[in-house]
Amino acid sequence: MRTITTKVMDCLHFIDGAFVPSANGRTFDNVNPATEDVIGTVAEGGAAEIDLAVKAAKRALNGPWKTMTANERIAVLRKVGDLILERKEELARLESLDTGKPSWLSGTIDIPRAAYNFHFFSDYIRTMTAETTQMDDVALNYAIRRPVGVVGLINPWNLPLLLLTWKLAPALAAGNTVVMKPAELTPMTATVLAEICRDAGVPDGVVNVVHGFGPNSAGSALVEHPDVNAISFTGETTTGKIIMASAAGTLKRLSYELGGKNPNVIFADSNLDEVIETTLKSSFINQGEVCLCGSRIYVESSAYDEFLAKFVARTKELKVGDPFDAKTKVGALISEEHYERVSGYIKLAQEEGGTILTGGKRPEGLERGYYLEPTIIVGLNRNCRVVKEEIFGPVVTVIPFDSEEEVLEQVNDTHYGLSASVWTNDLRRAHRVAGRIEAGIVWVNTWFLRDLRTPFGGMKQSGIGREGGVHSFEFYSELTNICIKL
Ligand code: NDP
Repeated sequence: MRTITTKVMDCLHFIDGAFVPSANGRTFDNVNPATEDVIGTVAEGGAAEIDLAVKAAKRALNGPWKTMTANERIAVLRKVGDLILERKEELARLESLDTGKPSWLSGTIDIPRAAYNFHFFSDYIRTMTAETTQMDDVALNYAIRRPVGVVGLINPWNLPLLLLTWKLAPALAAGNTVVMKPAELTPMTATVLAEICRDAGVPDGVVNVVHGFGPNSAGSALVEHPDVNAISFTGETTTGKIIMASAAGTLKRLSYELGGKNPNVIFADSNLDEVIETTLKSSFINQGEVCLCGSRIYVESSAYDEFLAKFVARTKELKVGDPFDAKTKVGALISEEHYERVSGYIKLAQEEGGTILTGGKRPEGLERGYYLEPTIIVGLNRNCRVVKEEIFGPVVTVIPFDSEEEVLEQVNDTHYGLSASVWTNDLRRAHRVAGRIEAGIVWVNTWFLRDLRTPFGGMKQSGIGREGGVHSFEFYSELTNICIKL
């Protein structure tokens, strides 16, 4: 057992407007992946805490949250966004201590985007409409939009606050009440978010946070609870399958944002310098722990050597290390277990016949913390596990191709279908290829550019449903059609 070496904060559950420990007093340690220090304890919730939180959320559905006017709800949600921005420095620090990601990244992307999620979806309330249909003089039909009820939000550890707010903001905007189960590895910003919601005037019971583990614990109890009407889940595809099976008993509405093995397709006519700068980000930002990272890079043969030479050289320049050093580009992986998993794939790549052009090991001088050098692998083919399976770390494979048909066939030869990037200056080819890639999002000559009004989600085993703009409201609200005989 580790001892607390650098106390940052202890995390309690937030149930019915109050911070509470678990009924049995159980806690687990929160470890900073960059130092391996224990930085606090976390209340370990289970079925009992989930039940209390769901009961509070169910009661709150018919409390002041329901009687608030749209303008009042908009004001409360805007205030949540404002308070996130006011506490940006603190939240960015906590996010980096929890995840090991560079603090400049938390401060420029994760936390501002979390605030924007609230500002964006509070504005969106005004656009919520439903349909009216009249057929001859027989009947008038009109639909009313209402909340789904109590919604369970289950989140991963890679973009903790950004992804939590991506679900929480539209769920609240549509009038639901919520029980959140953050990833056990990243509890801190979810705890502060609960405080912010309370300070912004969100009524008691509307937002609840239960910390704990997923399988056979808080996560599964939330999924199986009969009074939870919907689950929005982001995480691994394998976990999604388990959740789908356990949600079947109560036939819950599900929204799924799952894993990916995203292709990055580079044609020789593209601007290689621009490609390389963006590909460095799409490969290694957030230690490669972003579901949208492009981990399969396909380069047209005539540009392959030049691309590799430049890409490897630029990758070697990326500074790996202390998340609180402003020059750091790649921080620490989330946990020892994940470090071992990613390292296992690097070993496997060599067994499968691959060559590591750079990276593949712990950087010199960083003995503590789960640091791994950004890694580029060549010499593998589509049948290799390293090319097929999601690694979720700073590891990419580069494969040459000769024709559009050939690359499309390889790109689509996967059960994933989250995102893709296509690089070309040929307009017709850009549209042609983008339209044939089996993915929920295809970027052309860019990556990670997001307009929150647009549909976000994956095809195949990368997800079910779409979130973003009206799509989020479709998930987080129910329609009742009222038919009046004329
Ligand atoms: P996991 O699937 O392991 O966990 C996600 C969440 O589910 C955690 O809170 C976890 O709890 C919980 N959980 C695990 N098992 C169960 C269960 N049986 N019932 C209910 N809840 C459960 O994912 P990771 O946290 O490892 O995140 C990485 C994955 O997330 C990658 O596959 C990545 O691609 C994907 N992802 C997808 C995104 C998208 O938009 N498509 C965005 C970001 C990530 P606990 O914390 O205890 O493990």
